[in-house]
Amino acid sequence: MSFIPSLPSAPSNTIFGIFILLVLNISTVYGQIGTDKQTIITRDLRAFDFDNKDTTLNGSWDFFWLEYRKGGISDTRGEVVQFPSFWTDKKSYNRSLPAAGYATYRVTILLPPHTKPLALRLPDINSSYQIYEGDSLICQDGRPGTTLETTQPHYSNKILPISGDTLRLALQIANFHHSRGGGMIDPIQIGSLERLQNAHTLNSAMDWFLTGLIFIMGLLFLGLYIFSHGDRPLLFFGLFCMLYSYRIVGTSTYPLHDVLPNMDWTWSIHLEYLSLFLSVSMFMLYTKSLFPKDAPQKLLTALASISLIFAAITILSSPLFFSKIIDIYLAILLASISLAFYIYWKATYNKRVGATIALLSSISISILGGFLILEYYGIVNLSKPIIFFSYLGFFSCQSLVLPFRFAYILNKAKEKAVLGLKAKNEFLSTMSHEIRTPLNSVIGMAHIMQGENPREDQKAHLEVLLFAANNLLGIVNNILELNRMEAGQLTIHNEPVNLHSIAKKVMIGIRAASNNPNVEFIQNTDSVANLLVLTDGQKFAQILANLLGNAAKFTKQGQIKCTIDILEITEQNIQLRIGISDTGIGIPLEKQAIIFDRFTQVDSTFTRNFEGAGLGLSITKQILQMQGVDLQLNSVFGQGSEFYWIQTFELSTPYIKNITTSVENTAPLSDMHILIVEDIKMNILVLQKFLTKWGATFDISTNGKEAVTQFDESRHHLVLMDLHMPVMDGYQATEILRKQGVKTPIIALTADVGSANEIAKAGMNDLVLKPYNPEKLLEVILNYLQPKFQERKIQA
Ligand code: ADP
Repeated sequence: MSFIPSLPSAPSNTIFGIFILLVLNISTVYGQIGTDKQTIITRDLRAFDFDNKDTTLNGSWDFFWLEYRKGGISDTRGEVVQFPSFWTDKKSYNRSLPAAGYATYRVTILLPPHTKPLALRLPDINSSYQIYEGDSLICQDGRPGTTLETTQPHYSNKILPISGDTLRLALQIANFHHSRGGGMIDPIQIGSLERLQNAHTLNSAMDWFLTGLIFIMGLLFLGLYIFSHGDRPLLFFGLFCMLYSYRIVGTSTYPLHDVLPNMDWTWSIHLEYLSLFLSVSMFMLYTKSLFPKDAPQKLLTALASISLIFAAITILSSPLFFSKIIDIYLAILLASISLAFYIYWKATYNKRVGATIALLSSISISILGGFLILEYYGIVNLSKPIIFFSYLGFFSCQSLVLPFRFAYILNKAKEKAVLGLKAKNEFLSTMSHEIRTPLNSVIGMAHIMQGENPREDQKAHLEVLLFAANNLLGIVNNILELNRMEAGQLTIHNEPVNLHSIAKKVMIGIRAASNNPNVEFIQNTDSVANLLVLTDGQKFAQILANLLGNAAKFTKQGQIKCTIDILEITEQNIQLRIGISDTGIGIPLEKQAIIFDRFTQVDSTFTRNFEGAGLGLSITKQILQMQGVDLQLNSVFGQGSEFYWIQTFELSTPYIKNITTSVENTAPLSDMHILIVEDIKMNILVLQKFLTKWGATFDISTNGKEAVTQFDESRHHLVLMDLHMPVMDGYQATEILRKQGVKTPIIALTADVGSANEIAKAGMNDLVLKPYNPEKLLEVILNYLQPKFQERKIQA
């Protein structure tokens, strides 16, 4: 697999050596020249076309064990050996030589006359060498000596320019540091200087490019791991990439050593082996965590651990020792690759996310691995682009697997969150209905009892009852409001509104509730007393109630003011500054920004005496924000606070005046006949009481179906329609009536806060939310019955 390429350059393997020998013999064309006694091995390349191609110096060389010779023809013969090879290879050298030692390899090359400069390309040679041409030293890598102490190893690839027609080469090699012995696996190439140099530059560029790419990939995945709060495949793949990126430039052709020529050999060989063991280990852990259901966990952990043990040995021992154990490791490596391949195949079969891409990538790298092994045996010579694109294919595919998985997990989480939100909204909406419906009865009945001349003690009890019920309603409403805001369901219903009269009502309510004789409530809203503006009256009242409620809560004595000033007025619009101020405890400067956050209150030392859930200001601010307005605060700690905002309203035509007049009438609905459609007895009772009080008569249907049958356009002036009923709901009943051409106003009475759109769609004219304020209900009814009153006036 991907780890193979470094092997030829360092570790030894006897069987491979034999193969190489066999294969290389086939391609060698050598001659021998000289006297009877001394025959010099010569490679005759005089007929070779160096203009168009390059060749290698593979074949027979003279070998002098434990001798350093220079190049020349008047010298004695050595043994004939096949080169490139390692001197520990028994078959090639006909005897068993130790790994540690030194020797000279000699060959003479006859070159054609050439005008373009030629060069030798020298691979890394185990583990130090120098080259003589005749008597001159022309190249050196490390320092070959005769003992461990006098030898200094180094690996690099070199391009060595050559001149002349005859090259009498003597390659002096020393190895005392590596268990594989002296020598090399890659051939020495000979050819055009320009071509060899260009190939060298291109190969280095590809290696650096790949290294940069893989390193950045690694960084990216590590970053994703950190921010994904622990998705392990990201961590292991990130580490694998970073470790492997070193191997591209720090092994094989060693481009890193071109950039750092003085890099210590001991360091570099440690890093070379360490990066192999660690990256295999990370890859195994990556595969294990990527497809946990398909991967034999224990086996993978064992393989990863073995690689880690090899890494530990590498750190703790010398190259002479750890370069020996690589032969054993080769088996672990092959087992790891085969297992990974099997896991990807199984994951693909089981249709796991990203498995097909992972399988493709492992196929791509397995093909490369196969070629590398063939190259190792000398059967093929792999070109750099094949290696480059195979790596590119492998890393690109593997890195696609993770985003694929990331996106999949993200989508799943999103789906889950959406479902969760939906469930939460449904739950809250049901709860709202369930809590608000009985609360409607409680509040309604309390109102009715208040109007039926209760005894003094009963009056007091009723007040407490109403206060508590309204408080509970407030909390339920706040939580629901927040829920609707989160779900983006909150809508603003503009209607003609008299801000002055709303402020008046809210103030009266808050004053009564606070019941504090030391606080004076002042209303400065006369400037808008005769104006109707288009806004959501309910929301405006809610904002005032929140702010005035807070002011009352946090003010022991002094004043609470509600002020509306006109800043600008045109024919269509009016700009107002609306402020609620108090002389209460005030808010410390450092807390002024946070009190608008939900569930936030000023430090407990200030608030512990005050109840509240910390929702009011957050809701208020958001409601205003929906209308494009920002809630502002001026406050001095210990002196008081003012919450204010500036808002532009559209002016309305004052048609509502008529209704207000009617409301003052004690029986404003006299002679009006209304159809009540409602299934809950309590609610019917409450409605009956109110309607009777307002002078109306009524019929009752307990479900939609009954209503459709019972409705009579000539008798019923208006329908009050509950929505959720057995047999047939209010929506269906309305739709049927509208289809029959019924024009009579139908008003929905519901505890379901999120139903405005469906109500309109079904054909209902308006809605009144339960539990309702009786005045509000009357106001809406009157609004729709105005034409009837007009008719009646005309008839009269
Ligand atoms: P709560 O229901 O706790 O009052 P709010 O969101 O309405 O929640 O207010 C948040 C906090 O802001 C209050 O707990 C209080 O500490 C502070 N606060 C709000 N209005 C005033 C005010 N008029 N005077 C002093 N402190 C206030």
